Amino acid sequence: MVSIVLMCFLICLVLPLFFSLIESRKKQLDLTDDGYWTLSRALLGGSHIKWLGDPNVVVWFEHEKRQCRIHSFKKAGDVRYYLEGRVYLDRPIRFAARLCQPHQAPTVPTLSNLEPSNDFVKNDDYKMFSIETTDTKKLNYCLDMLDMKSALKDINKTLNSSQVEIWLLNTGLVIRMLVNEDLSAGDAVEKYGPQLSMKLRELSDALADFSYKLKIFSLPEGECLVSAVSLRDFSDLWECPSCHQKMSRSAMELMKGCFTPHCDQSIDGVPLEIIQESSAFVDLNHDDSFHFDTRN
Ligand SMILES: [Zn+2]
Repeated sequence: MVSIVLMCFLICLVLPLFFSLIESRKKQLDLTDDGYWTLSRALLGGSHIKWLGDPNVVVWFEHEKRQCRIHSFKKAGDVRYYLEGRVYLDRPIRFAARLCQPHQAPTVPTLSNLEPSNDFVKNDDYKMFSIETTDTKKLNYCLDMLDMKSALKDINKTLNSSQVEIWLLNTGLVIRMLVNEDLSAGDAVEKYGPQLSMKLRELSDALADFSYKLKIFSLPEGECLVSAVSLRDFSDLWECPSCHQKMSRSAMELMKGCFTPHCDQSIDGVPLEIIQESSAFVDLNHDDSFHFDTRN
């Protein structure tokens, strides 16, 4: 009896603290991070707060019916902000590659079959990038396209970043860039988001052209969305607990979760119904998130 009374007392004490903490974090994001809403409006998209771990604001927009996202993050032990932009492609490219400027060592863990390529060491267009790929032949063809060369030329300068990492993935494009200035997350998104969104558009257009030229129209059954490896007989599989998409485990770790645009287990997933909603509203009833739609 005494233990039940004690438990009730503790619950009464802890719950208000818990909810006030959540409310204060919501207010903190609402009041100080206007930059997210400014960029959302400029891109005719919206902003969505994710509650996967720490709260994070995701700016979403569309380009040629492709789902695009921008969010900020910090690396462990680093006080600086990074921005990550993604485009979920409508046609696969059937390989994966990582391009970094300046040169970076391979990530650990890395994607299955991703190997450093030395084919571009003496190439004036690409020698400033470290390059890894799962398919040298496809990557050579892709980087030889004029649109791709033009989109990647001086990319660090255009993004005004000293560190840029580009992932060309089976069904997506990811650009991660360091924000060199000491800015709040919202201010960084507002200031650097427009150039990042421009590069997301240019590069995803070039990748769409690549798929078209190689007559790749759909994803073969059982192929990883990220690494393009066949998941048949693959031992290290991960299955999304929410949408049940299967991926290689290393792909899930590198992409910090599921790699589908509307899944709540994706780092920047935004539910489809939120994107389809056209009127401005604040939805506080959703289980784990609320959002502002800024298109009106
Ligand atoms: Zn999922």
